[in-house]
Amino acid sequence: TKWVYVFGDGRAEGSARDSHLLGGKGANLAEMCALGLPVPPGLTITTEACNAYYDGGKSFPEGLEADVMAALQKVGEMAGRGFGDPDRPLLLSVRSGARASMPGMMDTVLNLGLNDDSVLAMARESGDERFAWDSYRRFIQMYADVVMGLDHEVFEEILEDEKARLGHELDTDLSAAEWQEVIARYKQTISDELGQAFPQDPREQLWGAIGAVFSSWMNARAITYRQLHDIPTSWGTAVNVQAMVFGNFGNTSATGVAFTRNPSTGENRLYGEFLINAQGEDVVAGIRTPQSITEAGRIESGSDRPSLEKTMPEAYAEFVRITERLEAHYLDMQDLEFTIERGKLWMLQTRTGKRTAKAAIRIAVEMADSGMISREEAVRRIEPASLDQLLHPTIDPAAERPVIGSGLPASPGAATGEIVFTSEEAVDAVRAGRKVILVRVETSPEDIHGMHAAEGILTVRGGMTSHAAVVARGMGKPCVSGAGALRIDMRNRTLLAMGAKLGPGDVITIDGSSGQVLRGAVPMLQPELSGDFGRLMEWADATRRMTVRTNAETPADARAARSFGAEGIGLCRTEHMFFEDGRISTMREMILADSEAGRRAALDKLLPMQRSDFIELFEIMHGLPITIRLLDPPLHEFLPKGAEEIAEVARSIGVEAEALAARIDELHEFNPMLGHRGCRLAISWPEIAEMQTRAIFEAAIEAAKTTGAPVELEIMVPLVGLRTELDFVKARIDAVARDVMAEAGQEIAYLVGTMIELPRAAIQAGSIAEAAEFFSFGTNDLTQTTFGISRDDAQSFLQTYRQKGIIETDPFVTIDTEGVGQLVRIASENGRATRPGMKLGICGEHGGDPASIRFCESVGLDYVSCSPFRVPIARLAAAQAAV
Ligand code: PEP
Ligand code: MG
Repeated sequence: TKWVYVFGDGRAEGSARDSHLLGGKGANLAEMCALGLPVPPGLTITTEACNAYYDGGKSFPEGLEADVMAALQKVGEMAGRGFGDPDRPLLLSVRSGARASMPGMMDTVLNLGLNDDSVLAMARESGDERFAWDSYRRFIQMYADVVMGLDHEVFEEILEDEKARLGHELDTDLSAAEWQEVIARYKQTISDELGQAFPQDPREQLWGAIGAVFSSWMNARAITYRQLHDIPTSWGTAVNVQAMVFGNFGNTSATGVAFTRNPSTGENRLYGEFLINAQGEDVVAGIRTPQSITEAGRIESGSDRPSLEKTMPEAYAEFVRITERLEAHYLDMQDLEFTIERGKLWMLQTRTGKRTAKAAIRIAVEMADSGMISREEAVRRIEPASLDQLLHPTIDPAAERPVIGSGLPASPGAATGEIVFTSEEAVDAVRAGRKVILVRVETSPEDIHGMHAAEGILTVRGGMTSHAAVVARGMGKPCVSGAGALRIDMRNRTLLAMGAKLGPGDVITIDGSSGQVLRGAVPMLQPELSGDFGRLMEWADATRRMTVRTNAETPADARAARSFGAEGIGLCRTEHMFFEDGRISTMREMILADSEAGRRAALDKLLPMQRSDFIELFEIMHGLPITIRLLDPPLHEFLPKGAEEIAEVARSIGVEAEALAARIDELHEFNPMLGHRGCRLAISWPEIAEMQTRAIFEAAIEAAKTTGAPVELEIMVPLVGLRTELDFVKARIDAVARDVMAEAGQEIAYLVGTMIELPRAAIQAGSIAEAAEFFSFGTNDLTQTTFGISRDDAQSFLQTYRQKGIIETDPFVTIDTEGVGQLVRIASENGRATRPGMKLGICGEHGGDPASIRFCESVGLDYVSCSPFRVPIARLAAAQAAV
């Protein structure tokens, strides 16, 4: 097996296509090298070696050692140095690099190869003793932490202690001799704490580091990250071993990260940050707040610290050329890491840059406009679920802004919540149903769960590329980073902001688009869905075959859905219209009536309410198709619960509390989801379905007059299992429809169809289609009844199922194609065999899930229907499914 791939001097054994083997970082280092860009020479150990390491019980596979040492020989030749050479030592960086980027999740060791001898060579060679000893102590610190497992805080303490003793304030104040004293204490501490000396042999250092990087694949935060991002454990990580270049080599050296376009807004302008005299990890760790690379960026951020463009114009110019080259090569926005060592530029990484949804759309649209990519490719590039971010509220520009601080606009959107200072508190508060803003000095990978729970994230330190910023953008959460004027006092658990003293529970609002931090809950606006978003959605609409409808019954939802581009209503759950104030008591009267006459009297009162609801919906939908489903839930759901409520309701409708309690008992079901609901209600009490049908047709006649556009009416019967059930209910619908139309002297076209949400209905779809004029797949109930898993109780154990690998995804979220999906397929085929071209749709939750939408396309459904906020997601997913 080939375990090792070498790159350097304009040649590489691998390329960007090999990311499964070399990891993203290694593959792109090889690619950049082959493009002739300045990349320090190095080697990549494959992900297969990582897997072999684990298969072998954490031991290096046969041949790996020899391959690495041979490759290192070549790397040394290219660098003009030797590994372990006392005069010209080859120093190395050892970094992880998985196929998918996992920022900050795994381990890195820099300056490897330094020891008591090579540090002297380094001092001689550089003519800078201070630099050499500083590098050595950094290495000891990092190595002891990452490889030997000694917490880095031990070293911070020693350093603080020495600084205090010597009367220094900054690290840079320490002289070479003073660093040597620090190092002596470091080494002593390692021996004391671990009973083992810091290794002087570079080979031992190297294998320790490689083992540590492999092992970090299985550390807790990497495992969590993989779970959150669906990254398979079997991918393993590669290890990149590369000749060191030094960004901390005095003031002509620097290190930085950049994006070829703005990752937050998508603006087509180089965007990045750097630190003079620093090593790479300092930028990403967010410990010092970095400077802008471009002059324009500096001016925009109002910083008085000089840009790279001004400080190092030559290196800057070369860097700009390289960024343009890389973007044109990869045809996508790149995220880059570089180091400048004594004026010479080195590229350390390039990868497709993570971006906000807003930036992703702008970039895709502008790249398509400029002819770099096709429109189809632009549509394909947007992750449908990410559109959710764009539907985030923003602060109402008309609102007053009680600003108490400001930082960088790290991830867009605004969020309001109570202050919490730790991730644990965030999780607990959210569990208790509260909304929180996670406020931290800076975040680290340990904060992922807190960031997930919070509405938004605020940090005091760190730049646009700090951990908080990168992770928040990935999650689509608003984030303000580097709000340096704020002070967190962890001891007293307060946030000091411009004279204000806030504590846990106090409400703040952060604006991730401007960087402002505001006191209290500030009014917000819903987002504008035009511009680039509108254009991309147009391209998507031109591509897709299926139409997208919404599940809506309130005017507000219907309007929102229309503004998001819904092309009709696929499910109007009429029971939701009865839960509103004022109606529920009439509904109760109807349910509690002890005769048909009593029931009809109550229904007569409900009729005008239903009619006016439908008129409003029809007007909003203006001629688009609307599927109205007859009453579905078990009747007892409408009845009061608990003695107090029962007494109150009994009083208000004028019956004895005991009689009411007895009636509630009578309606009680052990398993209401499988009980007296759906079409079963219409069969027991046809007058309910008749009232609803009358309301629908009277409303349709009325709305046709006001809008001039007749609605496309579809009446849907729920929970049908038997053809005869549908026949029975359909006869009532048709009879009432005929009556109403005769009374009005007007014809209204309509269809009567059924939900397919029981396995029996799916199996018998061929026969049911003789009566049903359309099918709508109710995949919520179909999943429940196919699996025999209660949709209301499933969450308690499905989580365990996922953890134990019994199922990969929640079948109530993404359709189970093999089981439930097969029933959908069979029903579609058999339904259409009976009734060619019959209209088919889906209205279960799956109608808004991109993976399920892909399945719907493959089955040939005509439309998907989903909740209003998912409509844009569904439009895009349907387009991607169609190409
Ligand atoms: C379904 O079962 O998929 C459905 C849409 O109906 P409901 O969720 O109202 O049961
Ligand atoms: Mg259902």
